Amino acid sequence: MSKVRTRFAPSPTGFLHVGGIRTALFAYLIAKQTDGDFVLRLEDTDKSREVAGSREHLIASLKALHLDYDEGPDKEGDYGPYVQSERLDIYKTYAHKLIEKGLAYADPYTSEEIQAYRDAATASKRAYRYRDNRPENPPVWDGTKPLRFKSSPKSYTYTDEVMGEITTSPEVIDDIILIKSDGYPTYNFAHIVDDAEMKITHVIRGQEFISSMPNFLALYEALEIDRPVFAHLPHIMNEQGNKKLGKRDGAKDVLDYIRDGYLPETLDSFIATLGWNDGTEQEVFTMDELIEKFSLSRVQRSGARFDEKRLLWMNGHFIRELPVDELYKRVEFFWPESAKKQPEAYKMQVLSLAQDRLKTLKDLPALTSYFFEEPRIDISLIDENKQLKKLSDEQRADLLSSAKSKLSLLNGWSADAIQKALNELLEETGEKPGTLFSLIRIATTWAKFSPQLNDTLELIGKERTLARIDAAATAESSR
Ligand code: GLU
Repeated sequence: MSKVRTRFAPSPTGFLHVGGIRTALFAYLIAKQTDGDFVLRLEDTDKSREVAGSREHLIASLKALHLDYDEGPDKEGDYGPYVQSERLDIYKTYAHKLIEKGLAYADPYTSEEIQAYRDAATASKRAYRYRDNRPENPPVWDGTKPLRFKSSPKSYTYTDEVMGEITTSPEVIDDIILIKSDGYPTYNFAHIVDDAEMKITHVIRGQEFISSMPNFLALYEALEIDRPVFAHLPHIMNEQGNKKLGKRDGAKDVLDYIRDGYLPETLDSFIATLGWNDGTEQEVFTMDELIEKFSLSRVQRSGARFDEKRLLWMNGHFIRELPVDELYKRVEFFWPESAKKQPEAYKMQVLSLAQDRLKTLKDLPALTSYFFEEPRIDISLIDENKQLKKLSDEQRADLLSSAKSKLSLLNGWSADAIQKALNELLEETGEKPGTLFSLIRIATTWAKFSPQLNDTLELIGKERTLARIDAAATAESSR
């Protein structure tokens, strides 16, 4: 068998969302599992839809998710250029092949004439088809008119790696436009030419292209091009599974997820498992595992549900899996302002404490700022705490004073020594850990969440711990 070559062929019409990345990822995996090539091709033949900056954005998104392509607009290969607008001569050559075979012709109609044919079809309750009004003696194609395919209605059968065997109806075959009057090819024509020229073996894309397959198959036949393997991927649905994922349900730019503190590992694993599993209970996969285990035949045919909570859970998992020095590199831009000038060793200690509780890298300031700056007293944290709100202000002030005295007597300020003192304090006060430790935790961090208390206090340091407990006791007694 020839070398596997897959491609991702986005149009530069905006950002790359989860669905686009899934297509790219699956194509990447199929190529990499047999040491094949993954190609990036920009399909920019619809100039009216082009959005400035999207080429750079698409490339940055693929790179951010480690979907490194072997050939592409900025990566030379044997089959370039990899931008369709730079390949117009190639499409013309193929167009002339069809003209010579009597399988393509210039479209002489004005848009008003076409509209009249359309209206007539609607009036007689027929589906509109261009070929029903095909001109008998079309003019010679000089590039100023659209070039159309001269189709023959026929049924085709093909095997889709995901959807199974599909037989198409002759009804839908039509004289589709190959080259527009602006000189650019249509997607319908260009992608077939390019896939053949670039020796693409597998076409992997969204299911919205299934309806065009009859016309594509007719073109493969007319051009005498061998069909590649096809795989059409089901839509990604919202969390409820009742409609296609829209912007509101999280169909956002994948780079936004990176900016929000999601790891590329998480996104790759999460997106791969949108509609695919390896047949076991395994839920989380590294890129190496995906390359080893992925198969198109295990992609579900029905829409995959996008569950943001699962994404968050998975991100926490991948964060915990990272060695702390690697995590340290990843959080570079997420530290609170007050941490910036702190020594690396101290930040590393803080990070190893916070690591278990981080769900996204963006949580870092909320989880760690009290290690670097004095927290603002927020009494609502006490008032909203189930155990603490049962106590009076005075009781809480007393408990805090006892904690302060107990901890101030400590000679060594280690996590173990602190824990021992805290345990003694539990016995002396007769309080439950849930009450006493929550109170001290809040009084020293004023944060919703924090790592284990003794570790936290050790890192905050004795002096700051005692000063904070003191300030909290004063705040309680002056309520
Ligand atoms: N340019 C098409 C798109 O952006 C690519 C479809 C395909 O992969 O063939 O949807």
